Amino acid sequence: MNAGDENVFAEQREKFGRICALIDDATEIVVCAHTDPDGDALGSGLALAQIISQHWVGKHVTNLLADDAPVPRLYRFLPGAESFVHASDYAGTPDLFIVVDLSVAPRLNKAQPVLERSRHIAIMDHHPSTTPFGDVALIRPDAAAAGVVIAEFGLFLGAHFTADIANCLFCAIVTDTGRFQYQNADSEAFECASMLVDAGASPSMISLNVYQSFRLAYLHLESVVMGRIVTFDHGRIAYSYATRNDLERTGAHPDECDGLIDVVRSVEGSEVALFLKELPDGKVRGNLRSKGKHDISVVARSMGGGGHKAAAGFTSDGGIDATLACVLPQLQAVLAAADGEAPAPRNPQMKLELGKGV
Ligand code: 5GP
Ligand code: MN
Repeated sequence: MNAGDENVFAEQREKFGRICALIDDATEIVVCAHTDPDGDALGSGLALAQIISQHWVGKHVTNLLADDAPVPRLYRFLPGAESFVHASDYAGTPDLFIVVDLSVAPRLNKAQPVLERSRHIAIMDHHPSTTPFGDVALIRPDAAAAGVVIAEFGLFLGAHFTADIANCLFCAIVTDTGRFQYQNADSEAFECASMLVDAGASPSMISLNVYQSFRLAYLHLESVVMGRIVTFDHGRIAYSYATRNDLERTGAHPDECDGLIDVVRSVEGSEVALFLKELPDGKVRGNLRSKGKHDISVVARSMGGGGHKAAAGFTSDGGIDATLACVLPQLQAVLAAADGEAPAPRNPQMKLELGKGV
């Protein structure tokens, strides 16, 4: 472990302490992650609520969903998934609102009014943020998943990791690291995962649910998207898309499409990948990925979205063609700017704080 890691963990411990003080003083607590929730958003939120309920008897903890949509089908197996309450149906006034896996308020969608009427706010996140808010903002862009931060919060508390908590957190980490295949799959993520398996998490059960339970309709859509992949700029940029019509004729649902960007990025030699999906309201949702040195979050931000260097997203009001016309030249510019540059240094590997609970 290097000196930088020690500073990160010292700051994390200090913020964990302040979050504990906020929980101590609260009775009504809500936990909510970002709109369009993924495995990290859902798994981290569920695990955090279970850890708080276990460690602080008598607190009333509610898991909120930022959108009006149900929990995405692939994640309904998560222990506690049935307990989610839609933020628009939640009438309470929380003493504490814990924001998980995001640090920009607009991504709370329908939960924003709940945030506004909460007495205190804490953030536990891993997205780079230029505008953190709340009484305590624990944001670790070096952490592979929000689930890593929540797992370390559990260790800090000396919490008992039940199999349910472990499965929720393992799902958070395996999905945000792309099955431990992306650049963020560092030693901290693996140590965390190992600890969770020891605590009863079942990687095969989670894989079965998340990666081997696709509806045929979705697989038919995947084949359409696959057949449409285009590469250019010497094969370094790959993109594809799905229209509303593709979704309708295959019978696939918009919330099943999370994995399609991985199909696009799997092309040999591609360095950055773009997948566009036309939503029922005509807007276009974009996923961007970078396999290495290129920072595609700048492109997502220029489109009004955000995310990490290697994984970012945005929503655009234009159609598929207009969005491609806007985004593809920007991707080309990112690659052109990097041509001739020395490769970026690797991220320092983080070590899990095993055995450092209080
Ligand atoms: P995905 O492409 O899987 O939806 O998102 C990739 C990453 O970018 C995730 O960490 C996600 O939270 C972030 N992200 C996606 N869309 C947006 C957006 O519209 N705004 C911001 N701030 N972050 C986003
Ligand atoms: Mn995440």
